[in-house]
Formats: sequence, structure tokens, C-alpha cells
Amino acid sequence: MKIGDLEIEIKRSKRRKTITVNIERDGSVNAVAPFDCDDETIRKELEAREYLICKHVANRIAVNKAYVNRTFVNGQAFLFMGESYNLHISETARKSLEIVDDKFVLSEKCLPKAKETFINFYKKQGLPYLRERVAYFSKLVGREPVSIRIIELGSHWASCTPRQTINFHWKCIMAKPMIIDYLIVHELTHLKYPQHTRQFWDAVFSVMPNYKECEDWLHNYGVTLELI
Ligand SMILES: [Zn+2]
Repeated sequence: MKIGDLEIEIKRSKRRKTITVNIERDGSVNAVAPFDCDDETIRKELEAREYLICKHVANRIAVNKAYVNRTFVNGQAFLFMGESYNLHISETARKSLEIVDDKFVLSEKCLPKAKETFINFYKKQGLPYLRERVAYFSKLVGREPVSIRIIELGSHWASCTPRQTINFHWKCIMAKPMIIDYLIVHELTHLKYPQHTRQFWDAVFSVMPNYKECEDWLHNYGVTLELI
């Protein structure tokens, strides 16, 4: 549906009572409407919210532009647990990649496979950290995963499997600790409540009363957690 200059994809859901608008990470917009809601009602509602939607889309596009274009050159900032470290490509480095003081030191030999080197770094550094935090929150949530893994998860931050394994995207390790904690609590709670029901969100809230702030951050700034 075209609203002003915006193309909004309309979805319908039997579970919805109101119209919600989602602005995706890439800046595209969709709206979810109640199943029996007619097009005219949807159009009126979206037109009334056009200004706000445009503002959010513009913000999203600005965020995308500002953060996603990284290249592996000296001085470029890369993230680790919410902190920025400038890249220093070194001829003499003994390790493929490590953090020394305020820098990411990458061995020049690894430059052709810099992306893989970073991903390996996030996996290796992230796993012991996640293990510790998962153990801590497991006690609070009352569920424990069989195992945890850091893998490539496409467009998902984290997921849990029917076999009670929790998967985290390696990108999570770029986020600040509060966001990582939220993703952990979210997935641990899924071991109790597989769906995003009221009970699920109440359980998340009881462990992490500020979870909404983390959800909003991921929604608005999750796009900054791109390697290049
Ligand atoms: Zn979920």
C-alpha cells in the first residue's frame, strides 16, 4: 500500500486487535492489521501516522549509513562487547587478532581473510563469556540449556532448538553486555515458554525489568552490529 512516498507491505493476523507498524533494519516498512480490518481503515490509520513513520525510516537509514560501511583499514573502528577499538594492521603481530590497549591488532598475514579472523575472534572470546552469563541467568530463569553455540544465524540474534541448545549469532559479541544479557534471558525464557506469549514477556520482565530498553536498542541500532 502506498502512503505518501512510502510503500508499506500489509500483513494480516488473526491475533491482532490493532494495527502495528514495523520498520525493518533495512528501512523497509510493513504493517500488521487485524484479520478483518478493511483496506480503507488501514489506509486512514497509516496516513495519520505517516509523519512519525517517515521520521523513523529516515532515522533508520541514517543509522545504516553511519555504521555499516566498515573496511579493514588502519584506524577503522570495530566493536567488541559494546566498545570501539581502532584497527591496527601489524607486520610483526604474533597472533592473528587480539585487543591490545585500545586497538584491534590484526596480523597483516590475516588481512586477506580478515572477516573470518574477526568472526573466529568473536566466537573464541565470546563463548566463555556467554557460558558464564548463561549459568548466572539459568538460576534466575529456572531453565538450563543442554549446550550453547556461537554460529552464523542469518537475521536472528539468537535461537533455541527443540533439543534445548541455545545458538547465538557471532554478531551478539559486538553488542554491549546489557544487550547480550537480554538475549540470554530471552532465549532461556523460551526454554520455558516457546512462544512470545504474555507469560513469556512477564517471565522476561521478572528477571530483567528493563528488557524493553534492550528490545528498542536492538530494533533501532541492531544494524550497527555488522562487521563490514
Ligand atoms: Zn523470542
